[in-house]
Amino acid sequence: MLNEKKIVLVTGASRGIGQAIARRFAKEGYAVVMHYHTGRLQAEQTAAELQAQGACVLLQQADIRDSQQVQTMIETVQRQWGNIDILVNNAGIGQQKLFTDITDTEWRNMFAVHVDGTFYCSRAVLPAMISRKAGCIINISSMWGQIGGSCEVHYSAAKGAIQGMTKALAKEVGPSGIRVNCVAPGVIRTEMNRLLDEETWAALKEETPLECVGNAADIANMVYFLATEEASFITGQVIGVNGGIVI
Ligand code: NAP
Repeated sequence: MLNEKKIVLVTGASRGIGQAIARRFAKEGYAVVMHYHTGRLQAEQTAAELQAQGACVLLQQADIRDSQQVQTMIETVQRQWGNIDILVNNAGIGQQKLFTDITDTEWRNMFAVHVDGTFYCSRAVLPAMISRKAGCIINISSMWGQIGGSCEVHYSAAKGAIQGMTKALAKEVGPSGIRVNCVAPGVIRTEMNRLLDEETWAALKEETPLECVGNAADIANMVYFLATEEASFITGQVIGVNGGIVI
């Protein structure tokens, strides 16, 4: 059933941006590993929908804060399907809080999900990519990691770390034929922003040159492009998809 399909693993594909990325790759004929953490039902529904359209989909559950769970997930995919061609490190959490109110646990959790998770997943897929001298890693950061977000210092710091990781890793694995890039979305309507009120949405639109917020498909389109041959000379970049906010 897999034939010669390329394999993409998308973390946090149960909903939002990750789900849109999984949909986009499935539409383009990739075999898609949809990772989820707690959103089993949503992930299963999307997988069933994509499979009904003829896509190859494999569901994988893991808490990406846990190195062993990530390792087991990657080994399971490699055993069942083979080597992963493209890794999209998308899973993430948000939290808005005054800096002085952030607890030790909240600070560590923010870094565990974003920074540790991206590290664990990338480290687990790289040996096979290096031995094949091919592969592509795309990290999802945030505009706030570039310009800093008030009341989101831990989130901004963790997303900034992902940008540093992208640039350094791209240099290290470029000679092995592997590209590593980062997409930094602006404000996107997803579950993550469910607590924002309409007044805040209006203010965010006003601050954006295109006078609108983005949707998950806007990010999926860029991620897909970065995975293709058309992006073969692009690596180590942080690419903003944010409606025109100039960094
Ligand atoms: P979302 O709708 O809240 O989805 C988050 C995803 O991350 C879910 O699939 C969730 O899995 C997964 N996840 C959370 N904690 C996890 C953990 N410990 N282990 C494994 N998976 C975990 O968020 P989104 O808006 O689509 O955001 C996706 C990415 O884009 C995030 O990295 C976010 O920081 C970034 N981003 C979002 C925006 C925005 O405005 N929405 C802007 C810039 C950047 P389960 O549901 O299965 O638990």
